[in-house]
Amino acid sequence: MSVKTYSLKSDGSKFLSKHFQVREFACKDGSDKILINTDLIDVLERLFSHLNCKAINITSGYRTPSHSVKVGGYATDQHTQGNAADITCKKQDGSLFSSNEICCALEDLNHQGGIGRINKTHSVHVDVRGYKCWFDETNGEKTCSSWYTYLGIQKPVSTVKGDVDGDGKVTTSDARKILRTSSNLEKLSGQAAKNADVNGDGKITPSDARDALRKASGVK
Ligand SMILES: [Zn+2]
Repeated sequence: MSVKTYSLKSDGSKFLSKHFQVREFACKDGSDKILINTDLIDVLERLFSHLNCKAINITSGYRTPSHSVKVGGYATDQHTQGNAADITCKKQDGSLFSSNEICCALEDLNHQGGIGRINKTHSVHVDVRGYKCWFDETNGEKTCSSWYTYLGIQKPVSTVKGDVDGDGKVTTSDARKILRTSSNLEKLSGQAAKNADVNGDGKITPSDARDALRKASGVK
């Protein structure tokens, strides 16, 4: 991770990544200095593609200490360090994702940083403080370890053949789990066991592990 310093005047139109420009993170008080953590941009880009967004709008990015206090934050909060962004996410049809959908999407990405549900409509705070801190600003900053559980949302079950850890993708770690299951070193149940039977012969064998490994490496 690294926090970089930019100037609104000279770097404003510079692209930090495919979808984000420096000026979008500028402090609303008009200051020229902007701090941006490169990890924050990575998370926002991953969220962008995970949700297949049309756009992500940064409603508050970098904040000077005085501005942060003015808008109800703290003089040393994550925004003042360039680690945070408050966002809304636009769908392809132009409507906005709900804050609940965004929180769950960041959980899907296993985001080990700050996720704040700012309101019950569309705004979410995301930061890269370096440790997991998921909190609900609509409920006295109450923390949770899973947004799905906290919000009472059913986590979608993956039916992808070869995906046994339920992250929606087939990876070498899935192949390893299937191999271990085929030799009774591990046990899979429910949908995971169904997904483990990649060739659909009704048994979990090393051949399923091999097929999963081929999928994981993109070999058809
Ligand atoms: Zn925030």
